[in-house]
Amino acid sequence: MQILIFILGACVGSFANVLAIRTTESRNYIFGRSKCPKCDRQIHWYDNLPLISFLLLKGRCRQCKESISIQYPVVELVMGILAVVFYVHNSSFLPYILLMGMGTMLLAIALTDLKEKFIYESHLYSLLAFSICYRYLFIDVGIMDTLLGVGLFGGFLLCLRFIGRIIYKREAMGVGDIKMGFILGILFDWQLAVVALYLSFISASIVGVYLLLFKKKQIKILPFAPFIAFGSILSVVYGNKIIYAFLSII
Ligand SMILES: [Zn+2]
Repeated sequence: MQILIFILGACVGSFANVLAIRTTESRNYIFGRSKCPKCDRQIHWYDNLPLISFLLLKGRCRQCKESISIQYPVVELVMGILAVVFYVHNSSFLPYILLMGMGTMLLAIALTDLKEKFIYESHLYSLLAFSICYRYLFIDVGIMDTLLGVGLFGGFLLCLRFIGRIIYKREAMGVGDIKMGFILGILFDWQLAVVALYLSFISASIVGVYLLLFKKKQIKILPFAPFIAFGSILSVVYGNKIIYAFLSII
């Protein structure tokens, strides 16, 4: 069963790729056929199978032989794994669909932020809709707890923006990241919001230090949306276990 779920997830990942790329190019993402960005020729369906086609074609376009971006299989793989993780977390139909919807939008947001350092409103609205439905139907916390989660997650990122402006005289946190924080806060009470924020910043620091030490890259702006997405997904699925483990240590 989980292999089937993984394949399904990889297909959804393929859609997340299309969603991100075509939003940035303002193309119609439901209907248009896929084209090779290098030679502009249409891609046959059998060359467009998630993960498998990339491996069979050895990462090159069948027609022009130019290399295909590694982004495609990586995103398909990530969504395949997410699909299995969500399935283990909650295999009932409706919550699963909502989790997959959130995962897809988070991937698309992370991709556009990585590529263009920009987060599109249309993706945020979809994320908002999925989050509200999931919170309303499947998260059993009071409205005050939710408000605290929203205030803490979004408010913390907003404060960072002000602090960055005052101390460093630059934008430490983008408006899109802050909106994302307010939206994702819907899914958490304050404890889970702390977990999500903590995981976001820890993962960003690890990647930042890695880039600085091993890639010798001077990072002026590290796109933060991928880390918010990472921290939030982990907190939705494993947040309570993390808190429990933490409390049993201290
Ligand atoms: Zn081509």
